[in-house]
Amino acid sequence: MSTTAIQPHEKEIRDAEELLFTGPQRQGFAKGLFFGRFVADWVTPYPRLPAEQREKLDAVMPELRRFLDEELDPAAIDRNADIPRSVIDGLAKIGVLGMTAPEEFGGRGFSQMANCRVLEEIGARCASTSVFVNAHHSIGIRALLLFGTPEQKRRWLPPLVRGEKLAAFALTEPEAGSDAANVQTRADISEDGTHYILNGEKRFITNAAIAQVLTVMARTKIPGSDETAVTAFLVTPDMPGFSVTEPRMEKLGIRGPATGRLAFRDMRVPRENILGPLGKGLKVALSVLDFGRTTFGACCTGAAKTCLRLATHHARTRRQFGHALGDFELIKKKIARMAASTYAMEAMTTVTASLIDRGLEDYMLETAMLKVFTTEALWQIVNDAFQIHGGIAYFTDLPLERMLRDARINHIGEGANEVLTSFIALVGMRGPGMQLKEIWDALHHPIGHLKRAWRAGWDRVGAALHAPSVLVKSDALHPHAHRLSRLIWRFNLAVDRELIRHREAILDREYVQERIANAAMELFASSCVLSRWDADMQAGLMHHDRAAGLFLRESSRRARQFLAGLRDNDDEVINAAAEAVLRHDGAP
Ligand SMILES: Cc1cc2nc3c(=O)[nH]c(=O)nc-3n(C[C@H](O)[C@H](O)[C@H](O)COP(=O)(O)OP(=O)(O)OC[C@H]3O[C@@H](n4cnc5c(N)ncnc54)[C@H](O)[C@@H]3O)c2cc1C
Repeated sequence: MSTTAIQPHEKEIRDAEELLFTGPQRQGFAKGLFFGRFVADWVTPYPRLPAEQREKLDAVMPELRRFLDEELDPAAIDRNADIPRSVIDGLAKIGVLGMTAPEEFGGRGFSQMANCRVLEEIGARCASTSVFVNAHHSIGIRALLLFGTPEQKRRWLPPLVRGEKLAAFALTEPEAGSDAANVQTRADISEDGTHYILNGEKRFITNAAIAQVLTVMARTKIPGSDETAVTAFLVTPDMPGFSVTEPRMEKLGIRGPATGRLAFRDMRVPRENILGPLGKGLKVALSVLDFGRTTFGACCTGAAKTCLRLATHHARTRRQFGHALGDFELIKKKIARMAASTYAMEAMTTVTASLIDRGLEDYMLETAMLKVFTTEALWQIVNDAFQIHGGIAYFTDLPLERMLRDARINHIGEGANEVLTSFIALVGMRGPGMQLKEIWDALHHPIGHLKRAWRAGWDRVGAALHAPSVLVKSDALHPHAHRLSRLIWRFNLAVDRELIRHREAILDREYVQERIANAAMELFASSCVLSRWDADMQAGLMHHDRAAGLFLRESSRRARQFLAGLRDNDDEVINAAAEAVLRHDGAP
């Protein structure tokens, strides 16, 4: 092993430091899993809304449901590729466009958990509308809420929170998609130092043409150095040099919100419009997307519930071969798995939102896991609901063809699932990787390293010898808790083994990363489900028992398979086959 073992390349470390919060933090749940720990406090007891938030939510939900029932026509929004102003105004009146903003700025002061219930309700009916709300509220005004100075908040937030102005978040460019750090839009300081002059293009921006306030990411020079870094700016469309080059790009699904292209030509942005620290735009962007990924989970959960309801009704009422479809095992399997996944999606969303509400500083892993897990689960659920309906699902009388089209963006938007999968594995493995490096350094240079290495070694050995305790209140759940504990232990051993086996090359081993990330996501999902099921049992709620039990059994089997795949796989054969096809430009 070389001394650089397990240490990511220097640039990647710098990028990671930029993206991750580096100050002292309490260990989160997902990071704990990679150390072989079950950090129980973050998932148990299953989070419930505090009374004051419950009251606020109870006051809003009937009004919201009534409005959505009477005024929201998802089919028309899809057909006309437009969300009517009356819908936007109605949502604003109910407070949806400023749900989590503090009351002093005119917002509702909702926690993220309560906000997720609102988004679940909207996501259950119309993905276009939930994407619009997310673009405005979850990512559009989030940077201001998190990083705005008191003066910026006072000036910009009130009209946005009231919905008089709309917001957008503009990061993506032709050369900066998944590689968000590759922003090419430049922001050069003016000679008198009062302005930044922006030049560049943005594409695929939700609300681009209808927003009055945009958070725009641009590359600035770091003072006193030749290097550049990304900075966030508050931009308004009345700034000379701002242009909408395409207001509404024609698209497959979520056709309601206007997704557009922007160009900036010598656009002067006042210096005081910098949002967050100069050069820390990626941190701003990633923090904002973190928040958006939580509401993604809520919207997917809502859509999954709709699919389950439609599929169940159809399976009970449609008869073929003298039986209801629900009598056939291949339909039962789909229905059971839809219910199991939906239960898990809701549990993961609730736990992840509660992490934000309870002040965990770094919840990037959990939000990334939630986004990947719920979007993949929803895709399967929509597809199963579609299949159960047969030919009738193909026609526009039912919402399923629209839901299928709408669900496709989820794998791509706010971080493509492949990129997030790698991110989960690499960020998760960083902690144990650093410990293994301490031990390695101490073996070769004992002076100065021994104390830290001793601690790291003790931690690694401890995790290898003992499965973590996973405690539940309900006796009936002990076997599930025991199985989860053993799996976390096996997962931790697998993480250490892969780090030692691949060393720094782990950065390029996406198959390994995928298996580690998938196993970690199953462990997180199972932990949330176990916690929720335990709370349900304690409260005497038994109607989800079967779905929860099925989820835990299947999730544990999937996790074991992912770990087994680290040893038994066709990775090299797949690489060789892909490279051959790539060499011949698509010819098999
Ligand atoms: C309808 C819609 C609305 C959007 N709204 C906004 C918005 O409001 N604001 C905004 O800033 N952006 C927005 N986006 C942009 C969105 O975030 C990007 O599309 C997304 O980040 C992916 O970037 P890309 O499309 O350039 O894909 P690319 O980066 O070109 O990637 C293409 C594919 O390659 C794969 N891939 C990429 N990198 C890797 C890797 N390292 N390993 C393995 N596979 C990889 C992934 O499967 C990915 O889907 C929107 C996009 C759409 C379609």
